[in-house]
Amino acid sequence: MLWRGRRQSDNIEDDRSDSGGGSIILVILVVIAGWYFGFDPSAILGGGDGGLLPGGGGQITDNSGGGQDSSAGSPANDEMKQFVATVLAETEDTWTGIFKSQGLTYEDPKLVLFSGQVRSACGFASAAAGPFYCPGDHKVYLDMTFFQQLDQQFGASGEFARAYVIAHEVGHHVQNLTGIMGKFDQMRQGMSEADANQLSVRIELQADCFAGVWAHYTGQKGILEQGDFESALNAAKQIGDDTLQKKMQGYVVPESFNHGTSQQRQTWLTRGYKSGKLSDCNTMSGPL
Ligand SMILES: [Zn+2]
Repeated sequence: MLWRGRRQSDNIEDDRSDSGGGSIILVILVVIAGWYFGFDPSAILGGGDGGLLPGGGGQITDNSGGGQDSSAGSPANDEMKQFVATVLAETEDTWTGIFKSQGLTYEDPKLVLFSGQVRSACGFASAAAGPFYCPGDHKVYLDMTFFQQLDQQFGASGEFARAYVIAHEVGHHVQNLTGIMGKFDQMRQGMSEADANQLSVRIELQADCFAGVWAHYTGQKGILEQGDFESALNAAKQIGDDTLQKKMQGYVVPESFNHGTSQQRQTWLTRGYKSGKLSDCNTMSGPL
């Protein structure tokens, strides 16, 4: 992706230096309180709605604490931050244009860079849950060490695979602004877990499709390179529920899918990318 020299977003909040003892102590307190009062601490410690990965399942090794802080100011990390800020700016420009064309006003989300643990309006989250969007505070949360996991653990390398991750979370922000996410939360009330999972898959696939719509317009700017979209497509494949479950536990439990299969994620990402039309991202009814 030819991102260097392009506009970088101001909407980045760098909370990586806040990752020390404070949040760890709070997490310990929540866990202790959970034991004492008999509630499930994971309900508080889990990520917000709409993460990129099946939330809170512990499928990814938790790399929190130590290690990454020492590299926070390294040139590689600074470059990664610039990349994230540039991709975020590209999503701002694209979605501002799309909203305007429909007579609407796009409100930029904030993107919080964190390290290990973070507190959001959706509660505490660990980097292990992957990047996520919190509808309560309109912020995308990202621990950039996830990009290394994406590359090394999931076999999804390439800059545009990373851009897809950001664009997917911004897709959830678009769902929040357009009221889709609020409707989803209402519908989810009182549903069985299996039904709620099916609904979650529809929301997640739409975020993939919106990421594809963004990629479509980014491609029109001439900044995509050979193989870029394919690397995003490969990421969508590697983080599909079936592929992840096979890798982590050796078998699949379709009722527990909440993000969609590899094939579904690829299909909807491609659909948005090919047409660039929101109307092609209706995942809420019909076959997926
Ligand atoms: Zn998601």
